[in-house]
Amino acid sequence: KSGFVTLIGRPNVGKSTLMNRLIGQKIAITSKKPQTTRNRIQTVYTSEKGQIVFVDTPGIHKAKNKLGEYMVRVAERTFDEVDVILWLVEPTTFIGAGEQHIARQLAGARVPVILVINKTDAVKKEEILKAIEAYRKLLDFAEIVPASALKGDNTDTIIDVIYQYL
Ligand code: GDP
Ligand code: MG
Repeated sequence: KSGFVTLIGRPNVGKSTLMNRLIGQKIAITSKKPQTTRNRIQTVYTSEKGQIVFVDTPGIHKAKNKLGEYMVRVAERTFDEVDVILWLVEPTTFIGAGEQHIARQLAGARVPVILVINKTDAVKKEEILKAIEAYRKLLDFAEIVPASALKGDNTDTIIDVIYQYL
């Protein structure tokens, strides 16, 4: 099996950290400063099951300037070019304007959308369960996977789930 997977989500949600974790090497640049990833970075994950090309994006958000607009377009263009969309969110029930915006963009996607509720290491288990319930109502996800990109918790499951949809 092989295919393309795009990683989307608001700046700072952990997209680059997750990609690095999945690939097992530091390739994408991660930082506490939003918008560190200005263009797409592609990395290839290879295992006995096949090959997954991860497309890291600058993140989707309400653009405040021309550079911001450009970066949002880079991310949104990937929707039509991939086999699976991985949407990363924070482990909270608060679904803000940024998430609503992404959900509207994704409602028209023709490929499976997998929601990764990241940073589970930073919150209590009840919070994770509540976040899952809140997001379930937002969009018809192919799967919802709680994980910690930083600690590597459940990141193997993300790979398994991606292969299911390739
Ligand atoms: P991006 O803008 O979505 O690419 O986000 P980054 O990967 O650059 O991460 C932004 C910040 O969140 C960094 O300080 C990361 O260390 C932190 N971070 C990423 N994943 C996790 C996680 O699973 N748990 C915690 N606690 N922090 C994380
Ligand atoms: Mg990044």
